[in-house]
Amino acid sequence: MMGEVTTHSGSCACGAVAYEVDMALDGLIECNCSHCYRKGFVLGFVEPEAFRLTAEGPQTEYLFNRHKIRHRFCNTCGVQTFARADGPDGNPKVAINVRTLTDIEPWSWNATRVDGRSF
Ligand SMILES: [Zn+2]
Repeated sequence: MMGEVTTHSGSCACGAVAYEVDMALDGLIECNCSHCYRKGFVLGFVEPEAFRLTAEGPQTEYLFNRHKIRHRFCNTCGVQTFARADGPDGNPKVAINVRTLTDIEPWSWNATRVDGRSF
């Protein structure tokens, strides 16, 4: 059910990077900035304590823009499951790529489009 915090699992396509996250599937965003739009991200934001890596295969870190968000993608399949960033309040957050959750039906979420391109 939307709005309820439950434990979800997710992974990249090849499974080298896998995680568990406690989150509600609401407040999700799609962004039109040069990076998010290309990757087709659907993002939800959680506290670092709510995110646990269960498999940590080789990854590459990608920094762009003001280098405030640490994007990491799997070296084998290229899928990015999450990013670490500081939120507007300065506290660390983890951005989950909801498209990499493996325990929910595809398109079972709703996301709000945000105009990141203009920020
Ligand atoms: Zn992979």
